Amino acid sequence: MTDQTNRRDLFKGAAAAGVTAAAAPALAQAGTVPVSDPKTKYPSQPFAEQRQKWPALQREMKPVPDCGEASYRGSGRLAGRKALVTGGDSGIGRAAVIAFAREGADVAINYYPTEEPDAQDVARLLRGEGRKVVLIPGDLTDEKFCRDLIGRANRELGGLDILVNNAAYQQSKASIMEISAEQFDRTMKTNLYAMFHLTKAAIPLMKPGAAIINTASVNSVSPEKELLDYATTKAGILIFTKALAKQIASKGIRVNAVAPGPIWTPLQVAGGQLPGEMDKFGQDTPLGRAGQPAELAGLYVSLADPTNSFTTGSAFGANGGTGAI
Ligand code: NAD
Ligand code: MG
Repeated sequence: MTDQTNRRDLFKGAAAAGVTAAAAPALAQAGTVPVSDPKTKYPSQPFAEQRQKWPALQREMKPVPDCGEASYRGSGRLAGRKALVTGGDSGIGRAAVIAFAREGADVAINYYPTEEPDAQDVARLLRGEGRKVVLIPGDLTDEKFCRDLIGRANRELGGLDILVNNAAYQQSKASIMEISAEQFDRTMKTNLYAMFHLTKAAIPLMKPGAAIINTASVNSVSPEKELLDYATTKAGILIFTKALAKQIASKGIRVNAVAPGPIWTPLQVAGGQLPGEMDKFGQDTPLGRAGQPAELAGLYVSLADPTNSFTTGSAFGANGGTGAI
């Protein structure tokens, strides 16, 4: 099956059915968004067991996640803004990148170097629509790279108005005894330290009206027992968001978080779920299915949108009704 066939399989709505990524520009800009039933908008059947070497490529997942390639329509909400999205090659980050670009922003994408094929896929799609996309691969566990990344994004975009700290490392382990010191260290460095280094480097470059958006999780408040280290970082991200919002409100910079529930992304097939558990992923939400990255795009756009100027220090969930956050 091709990528596009896979992606097509995810759409139930007649308007979206059969639309390929190549047809996205016209669809992305015109027409109304079809009303759909959130229960049946995407398939609810269990995902097939699958595992890829970390960090996993979205293009090799079955089915390929829907990041809004064929469906997201922009309306100029972020015209002229300059955004950096970490982990923007795939999953939730890619959905934010597509939405930001179609809302008129210039976007820089960071990703781990081995994710180049996924990064090229999203860059090709958006550049084909006339959008500016800057690709900056590199390892976020390296403090110096974090600082360089902010400098490069600022230079190559001609400013920095929006920072999305979205990259993360997640490995499920049934017991604390199975979490190595290396895993614990990498989870902390990727999810917490990188956010700290990137944010600290970005703030001096930002002007009033800028926005920082951190990807938290339902695990920030309701931890899965097999995600001990990851959930610890996600709780930290939530509190970092709230404390930083208080601190830099005086600079006119807003800081908010998106807190997803189970979303079908490469994170899950690169060790995010325990072996043999993929068929349960997302099945226990009140909507009866896992979410797709495209379903979060509007939250990231809203938090970046200067219209929401009084919203800072808050977290917004997308979890299919679990009520976690
Ligand atoms: P994803 O695999 O598509 O995105 C994670 C990204 O992190 C990768 O694409 C990679 O580019 C980046 N990354 C990891 N380590 C890196 C490193 N050392 N250097 C540079 N980049 C690195 O998966 P996703 O689920 O879209 O994850 C995005 C965010 O959503 C994460 O913060 C994750 O914790 C959060 N989240 C996901 C879910 C879910 O169910 N998928 C639920 C709650 C929160
Ligand atoms: Mg990726």
